[in-house]
Amino acid sequence: QHLASEERTCPLTLSEVPAPLSYFRVVVFGDDGVGKTTLVRQLADGDYCDAVNDEQEDDLHQILLSVELDEEESAMEVVDSPVNTDIDSLRPDAFLVVYSVSDRKSFETAAEVTQHLRSDLGTDRTVYLVANKTDLRRQQRVSQKEGRRLADANDCQFMEISAALRVNVDVLLMGVLTHIRRQLVLPGE
Ligand code: GDP
Repeated sequence: QHLASEERTCPLTLSEVPAPLSYFRVVVFGDDGVGKTTLVRQLADGDYCDAVNDEQEDDLHQILLSVELDEEESAMEVVDSPVNTDIDSLRPDAFLVVYSVSDRKSFETAAEVTQHLRSDLGTDRTVYLVANKTDLRRQQRVSQKEGRRLADANDCQFMEISAALRVNVDVLLMGVLTHIRRQLVLPGE
């Protein structure tokens, strides 16, 4: 059962966006070093960022974005690697599972996480498999084909990005929002 946005609470408060608006939560997973912090920082540096969790630049674990798509404003909270938290209690609308194309092990972890989300947790939410560091062509250890195959096998969206170079970061954000909105209106949900 999908909860209406007002049934969840966000510790951050929107300052600039007039209510009412839809509010979504996105949780990011992935091995250490795959670029999660870099991705979240890029999102936080975008014009659409409305709040961050604290003043410490190194510790951006939670940010709040106000994103406009199709002339409709949505608030989107992005939570990086929640630890010691029951995922169910977070009630995410979408998951980003990040790996680095230059790190084979991180791809194996991403495979475990996506399978876990679908099989064990049984989530029907949007899951994006995110292949990061696509700028590192020479160090590439995971092919695009493998990424796509894993995504298809687990009913995930697939996106290749370079968080460091900010390639496809905004495309990813809009894609996630599009899929979240779409899942809200699916019949039977
Ligand atoms: P986290 O542990 O998943 O949060 O990873 P970080 O965001 O701390 O990134 C780990 C390292 O990878 C840092 O040195 C980043 O600068 C680097 N990095 C992150 N994204 C990219 C990318 O797209 N391309 C390249 N070449 N390096 C990246």
